[in-house]
Amino acid sequence: MPDPKYQRLILKLSGESFVPKGERGISMPEVVDIASQTFKAAQQGVEIGIVIGGGNILRGAQFTAGSASIQEATGHYMGMLATVINGLALQDALESLGCETRLMTAIKMDGVAEPFIRRRADQHLKKGRIVILAAGTGAPFVTTDTAAAQKALELDADILLKATRVDGIYSADPEKDPDAELYTELTYTQVQSRNLRVMDPTAIAHCMEHNLPILVFNYRTDGNIERAVRGETIGTRVVSQLG
Ligand code: UDP
Repeated sequence: MPDPKYQRLILKLSGESFVPKGERGISMPEVVDIASQTFKAAQQGVEIGIVIGGGNILRGAQFTAGSASIQEATGHYMGMLATVINGLALQDALESLGCETRLMTAIKMDGVAEPFIRRRADQHLKKGRIVILAAGTGAPFVTTDTAAAQKALELDADILLKATRVDGIYSADPEKDPDAELYTELTYTQVQSRNLRVMDPTAIAHCMEHNLPILVFNYRTDGNIERAVRGETIGTRVVSQLG
């Protein structure tokens, strides 16, 4: 088996990867499927931290939009808690496959998970455990994309892998426009100037400032997480300079 290209990476999984397309909630067969892909990738010898989203359960901005009876910040905290629910499901799915894991949360939740402490997370990763990072950044008004960028920087990851349900970044929404063009490589500046909303703008800005490469790829193609880890040409890479 070829060596992995990276020593350490952060994998951003959206909540939508936990359910069949168009559904909400959690479907354990879907969770086990993505857990199994991730475990196989980890077995190639790469350290993996997973930042998990919560959109399959609740997104703060959508939940509170137009309602006078709940504050937007409250909705964002609810969204962060949703990521912990997902984290628990993912942890058990990974462990049912024989994978050693740790669940760490950015909001302290004694009795449920470890608090996120950078040095401790670093040690878990070095020991080959898959570390699931839940509750986002711990602060409202951003998404787990920003959390993924921050955690990748904090934990000195080589790359941020963003798993999506399409093949990468397109010139237009490929689920609506059949002529949408798939890019193989883009610069951070191109993503910003073309307003390609693949990750939230704060996440792109963080990655750009610290020159952290991003790979956007399709998690629904079996084996793609392993391919990404080996550095195979899949999806769209976002880097500082095209090369
Ligand atoms: N969230 C937040 N701060 C964070 C991360 C997430 O307030 O640092 C909230 C936000 O409301 C977000 C929700 O949690 O919409 C769920 O996360 P996200 O939308 O990123 O989930 P995904 O789309 O990746 O499933």
